Amino acid sequence: MSATRSLVVASNNAGKLREFRELLEPLAWELTAQADHGISAAEETGLTFVENALLKARAACLGSGLPALADDSGLAVTALGGAPGIYSARYSGAQGDDRANNEKLIEALADIPEGQRGAQYHCVLVYMRHAEDPVPIIVQGSWPGEILSLPRGEGGFGYDPLFWVPEQGSSVAELSPELKNRISHRGRALSALLEQLER
Ligand code: IMP
Repeated sequence: MSATRSLVVASNNAGKLREFRELLEPLAWELTAQADHGISAAEETGLTFVENALLKARAACLGSGLPALADDSGLAVTALGGAPGIYSARYSGAQGDDRANNEKLIEALADIPEGQRGAQYHCVLVYMRHAEDPVPIIVQGSWPGEILSLPRGEGGFGYDPLFWVPEQGSSVAELSPELKNRISHRGRALSALLEQLER
């Protein structure tokens, strides 16, 4: 792998951008965010994480002329039939309103007892070399947990204060950034991507 690989991250989500910077730091790649290139958020018209990640990556390649790394991720709650899923960022209506999304989730699960509150974080990553790349690298990672009835912790972003990780005995918002990055859906997907890039 080249030490001077330039990459645009196809996201405007500050929490994700921070995690990608932390996760990719050891590789010394030249990392920019799509906003640095004046690229605005791609319309997420797909019905799966994979479709949306491809749309984001292609838009970032087109706007920057660089290879792009796109992430589409979200929370799937078993008792809600997989919701909010691809609509995780806009669950409460407004794009990216974490507080309103968490309040809506607490409400939606108010009558669901402990033991039936299982959920998974999912992350699909797409690495696209250029806008017409016919074989982008696509990987995914997931992370099982349970949804709390009240938020705990200050770290992370999105649904992290409500996502309980039984093996750690804490919510994701209570984990250190290093630990979250190592074991999260995004961390797992990124390891799979790096493995493929090294081949
Ligand atoms: P996207 O930016 O369209 O992929 O939407 C991702 C949304 O899923 C975020 O806005 C969060 O609501 C949720 N999400 C994804 N990954 C995480 C995470 O690591 N922690 C908390 N929420 C997440």
